[in-house]
Amino acid sequence: MHTYLEPAKELPVYRFDVVVAGGGTAGVIAAIAAARTGASVALIEAKGYVGGTMLEGGTTLHSFFTLGKIHGRESKQIVKGIAQELIDRLVAVGGSTGHLIDELGINYDEHCTLIDVESVKLVEAEMLEEAGVQIWFNTLVAGADVENGHIRGMIAQSRVEGRICFEAHSFIDATGWGDLSAYAGAKFTVPKEFSVANSVGVAGVDVERYAKYIEENGGLTGVTYGPRDGENHQIVRIGASFWKVLSTLMAAHKTAQGKDPGYTEEELKQNKIPLSVQQQMAKLALTLGVTTMHDNYFMYLKCNYVMKDGLTSQADMTKAEIELRRRQAASIELLRKSIPGCEKAFIARTSPTLCTRRGRTIECEYDISNAEILEGRHFADDICYFGFHDLAPKYHVGGDGSYGIPLRAILVKGIDNLFAVGMMITSDYDAYMSTRNTVSCMGQGQAAGTLAAMAATTNVPLRSVPIQDLQARLKEDGVYLGQ
Ligand SMILES: Cc1cc2nc3c(=O)[nH]c(=O)nc-3n(C[C@H](O)[C@H](O)[C@H](O)COP(=O)(O)OP(=O)(O)OC[C@H]3O[C@@H](n4cnc5c(N)ncnc54)[C@H](O)[C@@H]3O)c2cc1C
Repeated sequence: MHTYLEPAKELPVYRFDVVVAGGGTAGVIAAIAAARTGASVALIEAKGYVGGTMLEGGTTLHSFFTLGKIHGRESKQIVKGIAQELIDRLVAVGGSTGHLIDELGINYDEHCTLIDVESVKLVEAEMLEEAGVQIWFNTLVAGADVENGHIRGMIAQSRVEGRICFEAHSFIDATGWGDLSAYAGAKFTVPKEFSVANSVGVAGVDVERYAKYIEENGGLTGVTYGPRDGENHQIVRIGASFWKVLSTLMAAHKTAQGKDPGYTEEELKQNKIPLSVQQQMAKLALTLGVTTMHDNYFMYLKCNYVMKDGLTSQADMTKAEIELRRRQAASIELLRKSIPGCEKAFIARTSPTLCTRRGRTIECEYDISNAEILEGRHFADDICYFGFHDLAPKYHVGGDGSYGIPLRAILVKGIDNLFAVGMMITSDYDAYMSTRNTVSCMGQGQAAGTLAAMAATTNVPLRSVPIQDLQARLKEDGVYLGQ
């Protein structure tokens, strides 16, 4: 390939105790924790708002609790701290339903905590400001200068200031994709053929008629009631079996075109249908479970477009951005034609960029396995508890329904002043289906931010802070560690 030698350039340097790369699900909590623990903190975020994939991927936060009901036992709240404070702040401004429980109890996630994504953007920014965090919006982390396993400076590209350097005692990679860790030379893997998707905000819908249609077609797997636009006990979440409704939906769609394919649910499941129709289904594939905090509106997940070369191909990524939008448009068309309550549906909100469930997996000092999660294992260096598994009810977290995330799992191997927090830890796919979830990311963030600040303010390396001191501080700050 033809190359270009970029000329060396002197960059302005900004110095903080702690620099957090990425203001998403984990990064915001990390920055707040670090600032409250006495550090000077900068939060570097590529977009013009905070919140990350929590706003653009999923439709509800899984889960502050152990899974009780679906495993036939009592559930218990095990994630608290700043994550809970965020929910309290959101509830106070009508930006969250608070914690709700599914009425049918057959959904894989009995607890849900709905958020209004626009409220989160402001509430989190205000919490950061109150804590004294310096926020750098529209600033992209673009490189790292590393010497002997130590990050000397993080390079970023600010839209306003151009190329700049951040120095810090320690860095927290909360980019979701592991950008800073990769620039710093950490070992990582990137999945091939991984799907990308976004949640889409759909307006102009009648939520009750939509729910009725799903139920009448035998597709209702869960329903949750909560506050909606100031009125209590409204439908706020509908769990729906895609396959149950798909056969009806496809038949309706085809009938509208003068041809009924007449495939049964079993045939569709087993792909016993011609390839051309499968492709068509894939294009129109909808996840029909929705959440809402507003009348005439819901958020739903769409698409799961599989990028053949994963996230490593620029061309594939551009193609995926366009393909996702094409599918979103096609799916709205299908909803309008086929599902009662959606006759006037339109896309009111999309993500500015595609979301992935898995970017780079960064090699850390400890790699949690699914066997440990299923055993409900705790570690001497636990920094937070979690109990939700995205593959429930197939998997059952043992013990009291919780497991611990050890500090070692977020310390990047080979670099002495870098954490990796959020969805980029855990190489075991099944285990990661638990650790990647929003509320787990927040727990990891609080621990990383707290430790980074404790080390910076006492000027010791990250690994020299006694774990008991960190755990004591986390408990003081409301984190549940089994007390
Ligand atoms: C389609 C989908 C559905 C999901 N559904 C659910 C669900 O229903 N419930 C649930 O609990 N979890 C769900 N998840 C998982 C969960 O949302 C994510 O795992 C979690 O939010 C990831 O948090 P994070 O902090 O690791 O990354 P993010 O929240 O993505 O934060 C990363 C932040 O870093 C910024 N950033 C990235 N690169 C750079 C850079 N180079 N420079 C500066 N800033 C950068 C990003 O803009 C972003 O703000 C879903 C995920 C997806 C993709």
